[in-house]
Amino acid sequence: MARGLHDRAVSDLPGVPEVVGTACPVCGGAWARPRFAIEGFASRLVECTDCGLGRLDPLPSEADLDAHYPDAYYGDPGRKFRGPVEGIVRILGTRHIRFLSRGVRPGGRLLDVGCGRGVLLSELAERGFEVHGVERSKAAAEGADPRAEIRIVSRLADAEYRDSFFDAIVIWHVLEHLREPVETVREIHRILAPGGKLVVAVPNFSSLQAKRAGAAWFHLDLPRHVFHFPLAALRRLLVESGFSIESEHHFSLRQNPFGEVQSRSNRRSDLPRNGLYTLLHERHPGDPPPFDARTRRRLVLRGLALAPLALATTVAETLWRSGATIHVVARRNAR
Ligand SMILES: [Zn+2]
Repeated sequence: MARGLHDRAVSDLPGVPEVVGTACPVCGGAWARPRFAIEGFASRLVECTDCGLGRLDPLPSEADLDAHYPDAYYGDPGRKFRGPVEGIVRILGTRHIRFLSRGVRPGGRLLDVGCGRGVLLSELAERGFEVHGVERSKAAAEGADPRAEIRIVSRLADAEYRDSFFDAIVIWHVLEHLREPVETVREIHRILAPGGKLVVAVPNFSSLQAKRAGAAWFHLDLPRHVFHFPLAALRRLLVESGFSIESEHHFSLRQNPFGEVQSRSNRRSDLPRNGLYTLLHERHPGDPPPFDARTRRRLVLRGLALAPLALATTVAETLWRSGATIHVVARRNAR
């Protein structure tokens, strides 16, 4: 039985195509290949035989998913990782902010969908933008910068923004968590100004890292990831929703090397699944450390030993245009 948030076992299914209960939301296809079973969870991950979109089948209820986002998932207010890791995350954040705000008019109005603790919004406010966020968890948004106007809603449409309200919208590693990704992208189209900038980041289900790792892939994050986008399906969703793709990015120092390290460790049966991630994740004060001292030491040493290989792999996969996670910049079409 799973004990933590990230140690649920994932196992291979035979992969023989079958007609599943609900059609693929991206291409409408009814046929899918069962790929993975999730320990103690009724839905399995199936892959559309037409567009390659992965999805949980049957679609879990809101309540089924909510159970996997306890307050501890978000860490303490204002922090998600432990000391030095938090520092590195912040430095990489500066590069990220420059990327997100490039090509947006000075003082423009930005929205972060799934803004969490609002770190991004705070940095963008610092650069003179008007910042808005939506977040489903009140606990996650606690301690956010007061300059950010954050609405707590479970679906973007419930925030009821006006048509063409925003100059730029970011949805960063959030789309895959939603039960209604297609409706969300259409809603983004409605509230983004014509020509406005959209940045979407998701794990890349068609990446070499995903294919190599299979059930051990760190970025599956089951059952929190309801949809699993191959790059082609993400492109199709954006284009069919009225966006033009401006650029595609395959390099992420924050996500991709760690995904390689953790996925490789996950293949070992003598180490806890996603153990290094759990170890680095912020704990509430007074909580005992996860795992015994020997396991913790082995997780860290193995992580360090794999780091050079993971970095090299990340660079190679960037050149090969097969990033383990991807971010796509798109512009809203005039109509
Ligand atoms: Zn499909």
